[in-house]
Amino acid sequence: MIIMKSDATREQINNVVNEIKRLGLRADVSRGDFRTVIGLVGDESKAPFDRFATMPGVKEARMIETPYKLISREYTKLAEEESPQKVIKAGNVEIGGSELVFMAGPCAIESKAQLFKIAEGVKMAGAHVLRGGIFKPRTSVHSFQGLGGGSEEEAREALEWLRAAGDRFEMPVVTEIRGEGQVDLVADYVDIIQIGARNMYDQDLLTSIARKGKPILYKRHFGAGIEEFLSFTEYMAAEDNRDIILCERGILPLGKGRSYTRYTLDLAAVPVIQKETYLPVIIDPSHAAGRRDLIFSLSCAGIAAGACGLMIEVHYNPVEALVDGQQMITPDELKEVISTCQNIHRTIGPRKIND
Ligand code: PEP
Ligand code: MN
Repeated sequence: MIIMKSDATREQINNVVNEIKRLGLRADVSRGDFRTVIGLVGDESKAPFDRFATMPGVKEARMIETPYKLISREYTKLAEEESPQKVIKAGNVEIGGSELVFMAGPCAIESKAQLFKIAEGVKMAGAHVLRGGIFKPRTSVHSFQGLGGGSEEEAREALEWLRAAGDRFEMPVVTEIRGEGQVDLVADYVDIIQIGARNMYDQDLLTSIARKGKPILYKRHFGAGIEEFLSFTEYMAAEDNRDIILCERGILPLGKGRSYTRYTLDLAAVPVIQKETYLPVIIDPSHAAGRRDLIFSLSCAGIAAGACGLMIEVHYNPVEALVDGQQMITPDELKEVISTCQNIHRTIGPRKIND
């Protein structure tokens, strides 16, 4: 990492960038309020930091050990302000700002009527972002794969419904991309692209999604450690996309016998990630719990832990849903979750991140 002097000229910055490129590395240039900081992207172990330190306009040059330096508070703080917090704009919604953000909708989009009825319900309940799965990750090839599992026409039609429902009820929309072949198609329709837990490790998928330049909702794999999660997040940051919302959605439960939940919600991940990075963190209580009677409690706990929002699966009649009905709540229940979480958020006040 190379910290430029506050009065460094454009030419001096360019000289450093060119020198980095000459080494076969990429340069990440952060022009902050205070000064410009240049991150080296790639294997910087052989970078001659001593030589960089003597270049005109350079204040300091040193190696950052963390594998997720571009999204780290440490790096961002140097260019920006004291305690930076990334605020991501998707449509007319800000994620990571002073207000909580609630994303809600069906697990899978099944029909236009189903989607529009749920969209209206979640909007009335106070949700800000509409979710709906089209390309569903499923354990069994014999179960409903989402409308994206059919022809490209069906996938496109479902994407059109999602876009139309978002426009009609004034909510930005999010859906998951499961494979590289879907990136161009989906990116044209949605405001936020979701990368599901099962694809957390797919670095080629991460890179091609990041290059679309749209906000990304990135879910932690159920077996991934926090450092691993953040290290893979860095693949997207390295493509110069920092509009990444991190989502904790539960990790594998321990031990034998019934665990009573689908996954174990890792609440500590919220304040830990917020200390390590400046990216917003949300909680998905639906996939963590796998049962609707726990959604209220886990939602409250997630907000109390400092999450800046929630993603919740909602259906007007959960038992009818083709996927994940057992963990869906109704719009009325969502309303209760939202108002209680907002009270908790108000009571706790702005987060103080001491580092
Ligand atoms: C989803 O949000 O639709 C989903 C499949 O979640 P996860 O990737 O967390 O399992
Ligand atoms: Mn689901």
